Amino acid sequence: MIRINEITDKVATYIDKPDLELIQKAYIFTAQAHVGQTRLSGEPYLSHPMSVANILAEMNLDEATVAAGLLHDTVEDTKATIEEIEGLFGEEVADIVDGVTKISKMSFESKAVAQAENIRKMILAMAEDIRVLMVKLADRLHNMRTLDFQPSVKQRLISQETLEIYAPLANRLGLHRTKRELEDLCLKYLKPDVYEQIDQGVASHHTSGQAYIDKVTGLITEMLKENEIKGRVAGRTKHRYSIYTKMLQQDLGLDQIFDLIAFRIIVGSLKDCYAVLGLIHSIWKPVTGRFKDYISIPKANMYQSVHTTVIGPDGERIEIQIRTEEMNKVAEYGVAAHWQYKEKGKKGSNRDAERFTWLRQILDWQRDLQDPREFMASLRIDLFQDEVYVFTPRGDIKELPEGATPVDFAYAVHSKVGDQCAGAKVNGRLVPLGTPLKNGDRVEIITDSHRNPSRDWLKFVKTARAKTRIKQYIRTEERDRSISLAREMLEKEGRKLGVNFLKAMKDGHVHKLAEELSCSSVDELLSQVGYARLTPRKVLQKLYGMLHVGEKMPDERKAPEPVPLTPAQATEAAKPKKSEGIKISGVDDVLVRFASCCNPLPGEPIVGYISRGRGVTIHAADCPNLKELEGERMVSVSWDGVEDKPYPAKIRIVSRNFKGALSQVTSLLTSDDVNIHSGSFQSNVDGNAVMEFTVEVTNLTQLYGVLDKIRLVESVTEALRVS
Ligand code: MN
Repeated sequence: MIRINEITDKVATYIDKPDLELIQKAYIFTAQAHVGQTRLSGEPYLSHPMSVANILAEMNLDEATVAAGLLHDTVEDTKATIEEIEGLFGEEVADIVDGVTKISKMSFESKAVAQAENIRKMILAMAEDIRVLMVKLADRLHNMRTLDFQPSVKQRLISQETLEIYAPLANRLGLHRTKRELEDLCLKYLKPDVYEQIDQGVASHHTSGQAYIDKVTGLITEMLKENEIKGRVAGRTKHRYSIYTKMLQQDLGLDQIFDLIAFRIIVGSLKDCYAVLGLIHSIWKPVTGRFKDYISIPKANMYQSVHTTVIGPDGERIEIQIRTEEMNKVAEYGVAAHWQYKEKGKKGSNRDAERFTWLRQILDWQRDLQDPREFMASLRIDLFQDEVYVFTPRGDIKELPEGATPVDFAYAVHSKVGDQCAGAKVNGRLVPLGTPLKNGDRVEIITDSHRNPSRDWLKFVKTARAKTRIKQYIRTEERDRSISLAREMLEKEGRKLGVNFLKAMKDGHVHKLAEELSCSSVDELLSQVGYARLTPRKVLQKLYGMLHVGEKMPDERKAPEPVPLTPAQATEAAKPKKSEGIKISGVDDVLVRFASCCNPLPGEPIVGYISRGRGVTIHAADCPNLKELEGERMVSVSWDGVEDKPYPAKIRIVSRNFKGALSQVTSLLTSDDVNIHSGSFQSNVDGNAVMEFTVEVTNLTQLYGVLDKIRLVESVTEALRVS
């Protein structure tokens, strides 16, 4: 096991006047917390946080990060609490430990590859502080190094997760060594036979050693100098996983992959690239078919470079890449550009690419800084803070903008789920629909096929998708309502002017009129009236002209005599109801009754009138009786959004009188869940039947909905709400 002194000594080499006490204190705390715990290897558990801290020191990270590395498993695996850690080590260390704990609690092992990118972003969003990510990567690296002791099923799961999530994360952060080691270890556990084969192949390759790399690097440097070309050379042995992907991509056996060593020459200008290429080819024989000019024909991801494979000084194949500084930057930081290329067509990936480039760049600066502390302490990864990542019940991840709510989530799942969203559970608990979601939340939507989008949702939804859908619904609903209203107006007004609108509609006259007025349909014409773009009078005048060619519509006919009240109607009066459903400004718990003259329905504009000793009477705002009441006793009232209590409404239906006419209408009413409170039926000498009902409806939409249905009945000539 590593000793704590080795770690503190390491830190002292790169930090001026380091706070080693913090690290030592963390060491003591961790040793006590994990006491008695062992790893699967049989070693004391303490060896793990020690190794993680050591990896972090090797990465030249600050004292807070190294201390957090020591403490990283205490909250999850021991009795220690985050408050305790904050008390002893301060907020900075506690925040890092907390971040690591949060990420560790999440298991991404079994998630589909398709989710990998979202998981990476979720981890970044949760990390908040880049140091959290560093500790997590060091943790994973040490766990991968000691994976031998895990059962083989676990080995595969952890390796798969590492390959899909953590190695790409390390790569994006520019931690190439970490990435390569992680990938090689993954290969070892996922494809043990391939790994073994490559391992032996590399070992037996006599040109794979560092000495050989130094020798070739020296020769190239010399050559550049002699030809007065400014440039630098770097060589490396390809790592096993990259050899494996090459074998896979090009369908080659290991014996066909000779260039296990690659050199990169970076020069000052484009001209020099080709000059160096010529020089290389003049001293070492090029292998035919291995020369690729990505400078004149860049790869789709903007990658530019000249590649060639030559027979090197010891008769071995070596790969050489030549490019300019600028091309190198694209190749290096272009991991982002690379990502962008792979995900092209996917919205937002361009912005993501920029953020990752930025993240890498700042990490590169960090390496050049004298004091890692000044940099680390100030660096927050707020790059992904304007997004939240949440889980579906099935474990898929949805990306949403910051502040998004369960309704946004519901629409992100499916527009139907959004439309019928009736409630939401976050992490198993019911929450209001407007609750902002947090990273890692598990969200479940409760749907109800009777529910519809609400205008109130617009106050809190964040996604354009949700907004559009809700507005669209409201618009359709308003249009439907305006059509119903228009019909009612036209029928009522038509009666006064001697035009039977319903009949005119059935006979196709309204359709013709709609065409004449360049409306695309009858509904369009009606909605024009409903939205007051056309007056009912104008429509009726035209209709009258069609029905009575040559005649002018009389200004106003005498309205027909009101139908005498039947006994049932007479007894019908609005019953006092509980005040639920009505909000009276400033007053609570007042006896409320609905005026029998106008029987207002939820959704309609209303006015309250304080009647002596009888509480507040609710009238429709346009009730003619209001004019005769005292103004001072009016109070402003509104519907409280409770729409499931039934309210009475009077309707009048005129139909041809035949056997079954009444039951036809009543069955329509009941099939729509409309309760008939009372009613009357009267047959007239003209062969028509007049039916009047007081029905109980929960809102205007329901009332107009059922009236629309009744109007469709062949024998019905009139179906109206009456007051
Ligand atoms: Mn750990």
